Amino acid sequence: MPCSRTEHLLREYFADDLDPVVRAEIEQHVGNCPDCAGELRQLLGATADLRRWRELPPPRWHRHLALFKRERGAGATGPSGWRLAWQWLPATACALMLGLVLLNTSVVYRDGVVEIGFGSPSMAEVDRRLAEFQREQAEERASFAATLARFEQLRAQDLETIQASYEWLADRDYETVQSLRQLVSFVGSSGVATW
Ligand SMILES: [Zn+2]
Repeated sequence: MPCSRTEHLLREYFADDLDPVVRAEIEQHVGNCPDCAGELRQLLGATADLRRWRELPPPRWHRHLALFKRERGAGATGPSGWRLAWQWLPATACALMLGLVLLNTSVVYRDGVVEIGFGSPSMAEVDRRLAEFQREQAEERASFAATLARFEQLRAQDLETIQASYEWLADRDYETVQSLRQLVSFVGSSGVATW
């Protein structure tokens, strides 16, 4: 027959602010009550498992997530936060790449440690790299403009072809109408038939 006090006693036993007197009472009862003793053994086993589980080192992503949350403010994270981060990712990546190129950054992965070194280039070197970057941008823009111009040219040619075809068709129609008129006038004048 299960002990009616088991649930209550064990809840007390695992409370944080357990009075030593109460603890002694509970332990005395558990010593005499097989039901409570069995229940306690199970709970202790469970807590031991929990403790073992907690002692496992947390995976790295867990710490990164915690850092991220702390930076963003606790409770303020959510889908909107992530979406905002993703929204800015391309621009951030672009700026980062430019920064890496300009500052002559070297990233070395050695023995599980990432080392980032800055070449500390002279201002002239920075100017040179920036000019190169701008030149590449200008080249890309020029290339795009050339493609656009070529497309416009082709479109104009197509329009000319269509117009010429239309004029040719119109001429043919004119000729056909003229022929019909001649035929009608011929038939009418010869008196074979009248319209
Ligand atoms: Zn009991």
